[in-house]
Amino acid sequence: MSTITVIDPSTGLPFHELARATEADVDAAVARAVAAQRAWAALAPGARADALRAFARTVEEHVEELARLEVRNSGHPIGSARWEAAHVAQVLNYYAGAPERLLGRQIPVPGGIDVTFHEPYGVVGIIVPWNFPMTIASWGFAPALAAGNAVVLKPAELTPLTALRLGELALAAGLPEGLFQVVVGSGSVVGQRFVSHPDVRKVVFTGSTEVGVDVAAGCARMLKPVTLELGGKSANIVFADADLEKAAAAAPGAVFDNAGQDCCARSRILVQRSVHDRFLELLEPAVSAWRVGDPSREDVDMGPLISASHREGVAAFLDGADIALRGTAPGGDGFWFAPAVVLAQPQDRVARDEIFGPVVAVLPFDDEADAIRLANDSIYGLAGSIWTESLGRAVRVSRAVKSGVLSVNSHSSVRYWTPFGGMKASGLGRELGPDAAEHFTETKNVFFATDA
Ligand code: NAP
Ligand code: MG
Repeated sequence: MSTITVIDPSTGLPFHELARATEADVDAAVARAVAAQRAWAALAPGARADALRAFARTVEEHVEELARLEVRNSGHPIGSARWEAAHVAQVLNYYAGAPERLLGRQIPVPGGIDVTFHEPYGVVGIIVPWNFPMTIASWGFAPALAAGNAVVLKPAELTPLTALRLGELALAAGLPEGLFQVVVGSGSVVGQRFVSHPDVRKVVFTGSTEVGVDVAAGCARMLKPVTLELGGKSANIVFADADLEKAAAAAPGAVFDNAGQDCCARSRILVQRSVHDRFLELLEPAVSAWRVGDPSREDVDMGPLISASHREGVAAFLDGADIALRGTAPGGDGFWFAPAVVLAQPQDRVARDEIFGPVVAVLPFDDEADAIRLANDSIYGLAGSIWTESLGRAVRVSRAVKSGVLSVNSHSSVRYWTPFGGMKASGLGRELGPDAAEHFTETKNVFFATDA
């Protein structure tokens, strides 16, 4: 039997082994999910809501345990990991409001009554990457369950532990057997089986654009709807009229958070030429103050990268690069990497490719039109930030940048009650926000004749 070895990225040492699921294991899980879904969808809406609230409470009671597990498996700083675990409970609570609010329509027609229903798909397959194992999973499973579906969830092989624990907590909270199952295995086997299995009726994929395209192509052959949350190369646009101190102080967090392994990382800083040098001066102390170290410590901003091979890939971006600023990182056998600020030109690989590590490219621009052109000069369109004290400019630029999630004079991108997702090569469809449960349903129209 093939096994997965789970490694602590802070030490490089293995600490857990688990079995790798086969295609037959997926098929068995889907068969259980089909049965569980029928009973779940037949429950009163209020009963499904209560069950999700109970799941949320159970997660809340285990925030510390889940957070510690994420520190060990993913190297997230403990403060971030606690936020992530608590976020799962909040997402569950938010979508617990959905079963009683999946409103259909009554449409005026002659000779009868016309009504629409939001019917669940049935079984939903959710494929999750390693960078935010808990939160990204919950953005799929909470609204999917709320809408009356069953869920099979595939975590990344590198980071399966918190997902497995969430599966246990669902059962402990009283969710029926088979309704929410976590299947640990490789993408090419388990993920692909979600795509090809006729009883998995919708797929949610978060991960690289390359694999996402492949998943979408497979879903197309099965006429299966798919939501894709893919890569990014988001711009942090700093205009000369911005509060430069504030913009510089916030810039490291916007790209080095989670060691840059964040699809929303503002990994290109576009700075108006007239304040370029001043901005770099202000950025220097902010980068020096960024604390990289043992993620179990409360006072750390950033832990290690996820794996040795990922660190190699990130480091390659610094070959021949013009490094303006470099932070610090511990030595030892963990997958540590000191954050780097690189001066770049628009054609440089460091300014075009998603690095998914703590490396940021700084590029100058001349005026507003140039800033918009540079920001949109990317295959991606996930997130972005705009720093300016001019309201008109903030409105113009935020409407002109082709990204799904933008923030002005801040770097926030994720609130569970607002929509999230990317344009262009960053994705298809939206997660979170008030409409997410509806995205896990298809509309049925029924006409009732009233003629006597
Ligand atoms: P990845 O290689 O695309 O993997 C993502 C998930 O897909 C993993 O669970 C992986 O499984 C699985 N997978 C791999 N090959 C597959 C296949 N042929 N069929 C079905 N599933 C397959 O991405 P990653 O390296 O884990 O994550 C980094 C990427 O995710 C970055 O590009 C990042 O931008 C993106 N991301 C996007 C968002 C967003 O919301 N837009 C959020 C987070 C991350 P195994 O690895 O276990 O084999
Ligand atoms: Mg991968």
